[in-house]
Amino acid sequence: MDFEIIARTFDALEKISSRIALTNALVDLFKQTSKDEVKIVVYLIQGRLWPDWKGMPEIGVAEKLLIKAASIALNVKEEQINKIYKEVGDLGKAIEQIKASKDATAGTLTSFLGVQKKEKLSVKKIYESFVKIATAEGEGSRDIKLRVLAGLLKDAQPIEARFIVRFVEGRLRINIGDATVMDALSIAFTGTDANRPIIERAYNLRADLGDIAEILVKDGINALQNITPKVGIPIRPMLAERHNDPKVMLEKVGGKAYVEYKYDGERAQIHKSNDEITIFSRRLENITHQYPDVVEYSRKYIKANEAIVEGEIVAIDPDTRELRPFQILMTRKRKHDITKMMKEVPVSVFLFDAIYVDGKDLTNFPLPERRKYLESVIAQSDDMQIAQYKYIDNAEDLEKMFYEAISNGAEGVMIKSISEKSIYQAGNRGWLWIKYKRDYRSEMSDSVDLVVVGAFYGKGKRAGKLSTILVAGYDPDADVFRTVCKVGTGFTDEELDKMTEEFKGYIIDHKDPRVISEITPDVWLIPKKVVEVIGAELTLSPLHTCAKGEISKEAGLSIRFPRFINWRPDKGPEDATTCKELVEMYRMQLKQVEEEQNP
Ligand code: ATP
Repeated sequence: MDFEIIARTFDALEKISSRIALTNALVDLFKQTSKDEVKIVVYLIQGRLWPDWKGMPEIGVAEKLLIKAASIALNVKEEQINKIYKEVGDLGKAIEQIKASKDATAGTLTSFLGVQKKEKLSVKKIYESFVKIATAEGEGSRDIKLRVLAGLLKDAQPIEARFIVRFVEGRLRINIGDATVMDALSIAFTGTDANRPIIERAYNLRADLGDIAEILVKDGINALQNITPKVGIPIRPMLAERHNDPKVMLEKVGGKAYVEYKYDGERAQIHKSNDEITIFSRRLENITHQYPDVVEYSRKYIKANEAIVEGEIVAIDPDTRELRPFQILMTRKRKHDITKMMKEVPVSVFLFDAIYVDGKDLTNFPLPERRKYLESVIAQSDDMQIAQYKYIDNAEDLEKMFYEAISNGAEGVMIKSISEKSIYQAGNRGWLWIKYKRDYRSEMSDSVDLVVVGAFYGKGKRAGKLSTILVAGYDPDADVFRTVCKVGTGFTDEELDKMTEEFKGYIIDHKDPRVISEITPDVWLIPKKVVEVIGAELTLSPLHTCAKGEISKEAGLSIRFPRFINWRPDKGPEDATTCKELVEMYRMQLKQVEEEQNP
């Protein structure tokens, strides 16, 4: 096909404002497109050379280089191009104009001399040249780009020059959405828009519209109907609706659900083909290179030759394995030295879905069945495990799990339908998944002083050492200590060494009668030592007893992401922050949560 046809279509599209007319113009274009070219025509309409997730270089040639190329091709001074560019405000149009006036002169000369007209530019030739420009790297790449571009502009007709320039600038200025392309594909190649849902579903399962178009024209609509996910091609993610009333949420999913922790990290779609691992983000970018550790875990713990599984990558505390805030994961993503950051910000993967396993497309299986596959295919470890989840059928338990999830560092919970219809709806947002996040949060601006009532032994390099403490607030009315949280972060190695020694004098083999706790630590301690603690926020937790019943029937007050600051030898246990004070702090600092943006 001649590139001229595309250029003329793009020119027409620029002037159209109705969606139907846009679709019709594309239908006409597709009807003139051969089977072998449809893929690249779709990419050109999308203004790219390949899907973004391929991680291949995009074209984006700098304006300066373009002007130079045009100056060589058209034999005009760069200043002249710049001048016209300033006047018309669009480099594509400027070069088109210059070319038109040049060609007019040359045309007269050609017909006068009887010289043969040059050959037309084909779509294939244009695409191949664009690829050359995009992939030229290293020394000499600027010259290659310049030469290829100048060659194209020399051979192009004025209208073609406009779109060549715009394309390589990365600014095509025709804004055709994927939805319109799919409509047009359906009409052009199946004669009706009734097949559009089949095309859309196929695109959701394989996010490469060029590829989908090619299958359609080469193998027909039936082939698309039977399409399955393919390892290496990302699937458009299933998305959740949001609500905040536990009763309503349960009703929406038919009264029972799997309720999962909603982890606060980065969504990861992991593709495994033997030892080859690819990780795609929520936006289907290829993020494999950012997570060499997750690549390793996937090789080790996904027990299938071929699989596509989905989960959340979360920053964790290497010593306590506790979840860390999303912001910490972001510090890792911003740095370039990945090997170093891998050590500083270790991550764990919490998997929540299996989409494809060893030749089996699981997208049409209900969630409980997909979960069975996931559980059978993952060898769970600290580094890669199934997301925490529970079968829940009443609002109280849902509320409890919600607070538990938050106090343990999650962002909330996901309520997931387990009905027969609970398929994996790729690319769709619906009520099969409902996200339950907080509307309000109580930011902690001040530290508090709490009493140590118990302790836990650590793992890994902290094995055998007491390294996490259970702390409580004071309730002067009942003269008891009610637990608030566990603290395992913020201690230096030196403090940890001392701690085990010092605590020896306080260890008792039963809970102190003045301690009210629903958690059983590895060792109980006489409530004597006071510690200064700060966290990200005050929150509710069903696991803790401080002020339980005051704000919520089910949960007490707790601290999210608590951190050790200092010992307070100057304070006795009755001088600790009281549960009442914590309630006041919670209420005073309660603020509406603004919608956060994930990466
Ligand atoms: P959305 O993805 O719904 O457009 P968003 O990008 O703002 O919205 P959130 O509101 O945080 O994201 O909610 C959805 C995200 O929650 C998912 O994309 C996923 O990354 C994350 N997530 C964490 N835990 C789970 C889980 N157990 N199941 C599904 N998603 C989870």
